[in-house]
Amino acid sequence: MDLGLKGRTAIVCAASKGLGRGCAEKLAEAGVNLTICARTKEPLEATAEAIRTATGVSVKAITCDITSDAGRSAILEACPKPDILINNAGGPPPGDFKDFALSDWRAAVESNMITPIALIQATVYGMMERGFGRIINITSYSVKNPIAHLELSNGARSGLTGAIAVLARKSAAHNVTINALLPGPFDTDRLRGTSMKISAQTGRSYDEVHNERMQDVPAKRFGAAEEFGAAAAFLASQYGGYITGQNIVLDGGCYPGTF
Ligand code: NAP
Repeated sequence: MDLGLKGRTAIVCAASKGLGRGCAEKLAEAGVNLTICARTKEPLEATAEAIRTATGVSVKAITCDITSDAGRSAILEACPKPDILINNAGGPPPGDFKDFALSDWRAAVESNMITPIALIQATVYGMMERGFGRIINITSYSVKNPIAHLELSNGARSGLTGAIAVLARKSAAHNVTINALLPGPFDTDRLRGTSMKISAQTGRSYDEVHNERMQDVPAKRFGAAEEFGAAAAFLASQYGGYITGQNIVLDGGCYPGTF
């Protein structure tokens, strides 16, 4: 299938590893020129070079913290008129509601709500004028299925979901769509890191903890970043124009509801 993306441009935030990298790779395979970012220079440069070598597309690598004003300015300067915007950043830390300070809530909202809103506001109107745009917010299945100890994530990501729901309908007439992909457990550094933490806290082995978590997934495995990236590439494609304002769960069947 020709996704119709050859020669398009994309900003993919937080893309040196994990789900962001999965999206960057699949867009690059479809011929999209990329601007990607992460906070740590070496892995970001290595990812950019690997994608250039594998696909031949142009990849600008911007070392920045996307949750800062300076970081967002840097990436928009590198790619002021993207056709595709993939919003992503690290998730807020776990904890108990009674222990969270207001500063924790403010940081979570800044990172996982304000940052994507700022990037959408800076790019969506140009997309509408040009008659093409695809915006994908990487959120979490916690938006549909709240996760204990991740209240900061549950709250900030749900706020983003509500904030863009009307805009996603307004922009559709201009062939600009805004959707969210809601990952369940995907096999990334983040997931492996949380298994390591549980292992350290409980004294159980990493393998035991990790495999037990895997068995909780109806698919009996974790998702792969390339599966996630392929879903993003389809939403971004010429065939994605009739899907907007949706929250699409990719979770191997974890979400227990019928709808
Ligand atoms: P990951 O494997 O740890 O990769 C995170 C990537 O984001 C890295 O490239 C990291 O590079 C970059 N990054 C993090 N914070 C950044 C920032 N402030 N500015 C720029 N780049 C930043 O994580 P992942 O599993 O792909 O997760 C991506 C998002 O999906 C997170 O918000 C996570 O909470 C959410 N999520 C993941 C899962 C899962 O199972 N994997 C499930 C639900 C939700 P640097 O550290 O160098 O900046």
